[in-house]
Amino acid sequence: MLVSLRQLMDHAAEHGYGHPAFNISNIEQAHAVFRAARKLGAPAVIQFSSSARKYATDTVIAKLIAGLEQEYRDVPFAVHQDHGSSFAICLTAMQTGFSSVMIDGSLEADHKTVASFEYNVNITKKTVEAAHAMGVSVEGELGVIGSLETGTSDKEDGHGAEGVLTRDQLLTNPAQAAEFVKLTGVDSLAVAIGTSHGAYKFTKKPTGDILAIDRIAEISKATGGAHLVMHGSSSVPQKIQDMINEFGGKIPQTFGVPTEEIQKGIKSGVRKVNIDTDLRMACTAAIRKEFASNPAEFDPRKYLGEAIKAMSELCEERYEKFFCADKIGSFKGKSLIEMQSFYSKK
Ligand SMILES: [Zn+2]
Repeated sequence: MLVSLRQLMDHAAEHGYGHPAFNISNIEQAHAVFRAARKLGAPAVIQFSSSARKYATDTVIAKLIAGLEQEYRDVPFAVHQDHGSSFAICLTAMQTGFSSVMIDGSLEADHKTVASFEYNVNITKKTVEAAHAMGVSVEGELGVIGSLETGTSDKEDGHGAEGVLTRDQLLTNPAQAAEFVKLTGVDSLAVAIGTSHGAYKFTKKPTGDILAIDRIAEISKATGGAHLVMHGSSSVPQKIQDMINEFGGKIPQTFGVPTEEIQKGIKSGVRKVNIDTDLRMACTAAIRKEFASNPAEFDPRKYLGEAIKAMSELCEERYEKFFCADKIGSFKGKSLIEMQSFYSKK
């Protein structure tokens, strides 16, 4: 059943777990996420960036959502717009059938200029008003997602702040977060704590000075327990990096966000953890291995089938590590139309 992300986050807060939110752009990734979710009894969250929407096309995504509802009847799930840079992007996501949108007002509509607090509040508020009227939930962002090691924000899918940022810009301020949530009425808030997009997050295993996990508890306390979202939170497992390189890849050594740090985040109020790079890498590693091991094979179902298996295993591991397994039983989903009255009563 397609439900809003708000419902899944409320359930996660009530039962003390976090949702891995997998960025996808193709049907193999969709099956990988849903097979893992079904196997472990976990709800599923898939999300599309704007460039993933362009790649897959909205007409096909609309049918994919309908297809997933039929094919995986037993799995409650949300479809979310990742980093919507404008009101229009969020509106067309809803038109396509998304049950949740992110309006990222931390950057201006060009997706690279750091926006003012006022700009962010105004665009977020406008999006919340439209989305809630349709029962759709909204994620906002305060603070600029980027590396505390380099002071920069990696460009991913055409998104990322330009220039060198200050530590203040790269860390969400708890008091300001409280004000932001109150002024905008967002359902959840993406926070900047030193995680960054792409594969190259850290040059070493991160410590407190470059990954400010403690900041999550401070923001949670200041906002009275708002649902918090960690972006750029692939763990970039060493074994997957090694496998890519073993079979002809050339990936420089990199470090992601360790799952034990994410677990600390979940215990402090994180309800959604964005994962993109890990699925891409698991897919690439499986395909490279299959090409090297069976060079005569040319049926895409064979090597993409291996990719689905590898991605699904990664998803299963995340569901388990984020305490998400066996949570379907206690979840009672509402349709987006029922959620309209949830918001109108507020
Ligand atoms: Zn992000």
